[in-house]
Amino acid sequence: MTEKTIPYKIYLEEEEMPKAWYNLRSDMKNKPAPLLNPGTGQPLTAEELSPIFCEELVAQELDETTPFIEIPEDIRNFYKMYRPSPLVRAYCLEQKLQTPAKIYYKFEGNNTSGSHKLNSAIAQAYYAKKQGLKGVTTETGAGQWGTALSMACSYFDLDCKVFMVKVSYEQKPFRREVMRTYGASVVPSPSETTEVGKKILAEHPGTTGSLGCAISEAVEVATKNPGYRYVLGSVLNQVLLHQSVIGLETHAALKKYDIHPDIIIGCAGGGSNLGGLIAPFMGEKLRGEADYRIVAVEPASCPSFTRGTYAYDFCDTGMICPLAKMYTLGSSFIPSANHAGGLRFHGMSSTLSQLYHDGYMEAVSVEQTSVFEAAEQFARVEGILPAPESSHAIRVAIDEALKCKETGEEKTIVFGLTGTGYFDLVAYQKYNDGEMDDVIPTDEDIAASIARLPRVE
Ligand SMILES: *Cc1c(COP(=O)(O)O)cnc(C)c1O
Repeated sequence: MTEKTIPYKIYLEEEEMPKAWYNLRSDMKNKPAPLLNPGTGQPLTAEELSPIFCEELVAQELDETTPFIEIPEDIRNFYKMYRPSPLVRAYCLEQKLQTPAKIYYKFEGNNTSGSHKLNSAIAQAYYAKKQGLKGVTTETGAGQWGTALSMACSYFDLDCKVFMVKVSYEQKPFRREVMRTYGASVVPSPSETTEVGKKILAEHPGTTGSLGCAISEAVEVATKNPGYRYVLGSVLNQVLLHQSVIGLETHAALKKYDIHPDIIIGCAGGGSNLGGLIAPFMGEKLRGEADYRIVAVEPASCPSFTRGTYAYDFCDTGMICPLAKMYTLGSSFIPSANHAGGLRFHGMSSTLSQLYHDGYMEAVSVEQTSVFEAAEQFARVEGILPAPESSHAIRVAIDEALKCKETGEEKTIVFGLTGTGYFDLVAYQKYNDGEMDDVIPTDEDIAASIARLPRVE
């Protein structure tokens, strides 16, 4: 088969969209450590989790044995509006880089919310509706998750309350308006509307907020209002499960054209897109059927994998959420107000943390200006204006392709292009004006928040 017989864009046929999600934990020998009750230090039971999360989502969260979980028809119908998502061969980027590497990207930005987050939002809204709930609360960082959830809630006619990290609320008024257009109420976090928000504001006056703070506020509101549950856009096992749709489609498309990726790259905030993209590939790796290099890319300003500690920690700043064992910078770590909003989380998926700990994947951190340099290079040749988060993966894909140029190796690189950057133009403006800087926490900054990790025997 000559190069050009591979179509420029590989669209999957509709029936190749998966009918079931793949539960990566089922193939892990070392299962991710369970969520713990912060009061007792014991693994959380379904009963304890159900005041916070919807019942079926609790079941998915705790299920570490079922390999495939059927995607309900209502969710599949919604997916059909924008899935399967395109897997694109980046011919123009390859040419620009003069690399012998073959670069593919799985593009999740072709829905109104502009990112992969809709894949889990629609599932979580569906289960809330099925349970007869009135609404859901959540946090949003850069606004992608809030936008996705607002769309999903309006589809199923559910109320949606969003706590938006203050720095994003101020920098991204347009995304806030998209959420309101879909009927959500949006509050900047930390806010005076919750006990935990007031406490955080008293301790850190003038804070620009963090995902951890916003989570605390959303959980408080969900548990205090009957008929409401909390939903989370990343980190949790259930979210990685829903996002496996990305990897399953990628796997099917590559298989169809007999392409074997050497390197699979994804940006990592809480780990959901990466966990979803790599799921079937990692499954093969765990079962000893195939091998891949799998690389997580995180911002140097919030380097959970590369500079964090593998320990039990709170998922939120207010320390009211369950404890998860993960690579963490400490729940009291508040990252600088950089622009990779969706990657500003102190911790990491416990599934990915376990896999990283066991040596099944690598992680690198990259600095913001180099990320925007890659974003611009990509936009100019591939036509898509990438989200800053996604551009972390682009950076490393380009770096790997350039290494191939030096060595002459024709590696196949696949990366996750998680979303578009149309709402991130303030960040692009800063970059274009030469006003962007790279804020990297010092060892002392990290040690200070690590010192405050909860003690778990
Ligand atoms: C939220 C977000 C991310 C990071 O979240 P993960 O859970 O790590 O996937 C990456 N890219 C985009 C576009 C996002 O919106």
